[in-house]
Amino acid sequence: MLRLYNTLTRREEPFAPIRDDTVRMYACGPTVYARAHIGNFRTFVCVDVLRRTLKYLCGYAVLEAVNYTDVDDKTIAGSQEAGVPLRDYTERWIAAFREDSARLGLETPEQMPRATDEPNLRAMGEMILALERHGHTYRRDGSVYFRISTLPGYGRLARLDREGMRDGARVDVDEYSKEDPRDFVIWKASRPGEPSWDYGSGPGRPGWHIECSAMALRLLGEPPIDIHAGGVDLIFPHHENEIAQSEGATKLEFSRVWFHVEHLFVEHEKMSKSLGNTFTLPEIAARGHRPSAVRYLLLSSHYRKPLNFTWAGMDQADQSLRRIVDFEDRLAVVTAEGQFPRIQALVNEAQLAFRSALESDLNTAAALAAVFDLVRDVNAAIDARQVSASDAALVRGALHGFDRVLGVVGLRRAEDAQPPVPIEEIEHLIAERKAARQRRDFGAADRIREALAERGILLEDSAGGTRWKKK
Ligand code: AMP
Ligand code: ZN
Repeated sequence: MLRLYNTLTRREEPFAPIRDDTVRMYACGPTVYARAHIGNFRTFVCVDVLRRTLKYLCGYAVLEAVNYTDVDDKTIAGSQEAGVPLRDYTERWIAAFREDSARLGLETPEQMPRATDEPNLRAMGEMILALERHGHTYRRDGSVYFRISTLPGYGRLARLDREGMRDGARVDVDEYSKEDPRDFVIWKASRPGEPSWDYGSGPGRPGWHIECSAMALRLLGEPPIDIHAGGVDLIFPHHENEIAQSEGATKLEFSRVWFHVEHLFVEHEKMSKSLGNTFTLPEIAARGHRPSAVRYLLLSSHYRKPLNFTWAGMDQADQSLRRIVDFEDRLAVVTAEGQFPRIQALVNEAQLAFRSALESDLNTAAALAAVFDLVRDVNAAIDARQVSASDAALVRGALHGFDRVLGVVGLRRAEDAQPPVPIEEIEHLIAERKAARQRRDFGAADRIREALAERGILLEDSAGGTRWKKK
């Protein structure tokens, strides 16, 4: 049975969904004012491994929501600087996030709401009114604040001691006129030039915390949800405040399990935009590394341990992944007949070790070790001519099962199968070449053909039109 570490209890606990064999989970998504960096993606890759483990190893259905934070100080400042409306500005970064997520093999969550989608804003408005009815709020200068002294359990997730609470060292920025520095804003009064909505609390915009509380409950149904996830930096104040709002509004437990991913570091500092030490996926790809190797690196150590990003580590991830892929290729050409019972035993052993590693709080490092034990032992058996074609098929089946959870080998194969030029670009150039020929500019048409050939794409003309293929 799967065991997960729960930040709320500070313990590893057996996990099962509360309803219908469906795991309802929420992960805080990106703030869409810049391209997400691979530190952000460490969290999303680990949450993806959790999702796949729940589906493919445990056999549950998953209903997952990951939001886009598309209204906050940073997104508003960015859109003002760029001189475009907020929705258009954030759309660019959402597109970039989708592209990078696909290249990293992330399964698409069932729900990917934007905070500014109308039904979500409405749900936030309703939640604020419920909090007001329950006496958890006060208003100042057009903004609505959560009064944390009205919720006795406040601080339970972050284990805030009285000292930490009093010194107020970590309070939200850009808030003013609060009764208590620990109180936080849930609806910000509108300021000139900023987008603003009115859902019953006066003109303004939502605070960051209320976005997640309202979207999680709107999209995942009756609380408690099963799992709420994010990076460790979100434990306080974000997740603590999400609990306060959700439980204050519904009087029910918000999430049973809190799953937090440790940070990706660079030279012992957290990778973060404010420190200027970030790398995005396209930046890493420009240095010749594959997204599949990035995914491998990000999932290769346990999610609750810090991971230090280095280029040597990147190379190593690439080599390790290649080792599995080469092994799979080698299995494909084994032709001997018969059966060697030892191979079946090795496969069983690897499957058991893989499962028990992941069931033990998603220990991906140990799961990979089980895969490499199998690679080593079966490679040795192939050297000794003690593997048959049917044994090899068995091993490949096991590798396929492992990769449903890890998602690295399939990703690498998809990269290999991809044309060296994006398909849309090829199609666009074919159309351009056709137009050139129609205006009898054969020089231009030839130049397009040659340029594509140099990039590994051959064009073939026939009566039915032009087709392309890889060189
Ligand atoms: P943000 O876009 O800043 O709201 O962050 C999106 C997600 O990335 C959150 O779950 C953060 O906790 C997570 N995150 C940010 N920096 C890192 C890092 N260096 N390593 C791992 N996760 C991170
Ligand atoms: Zn959140």
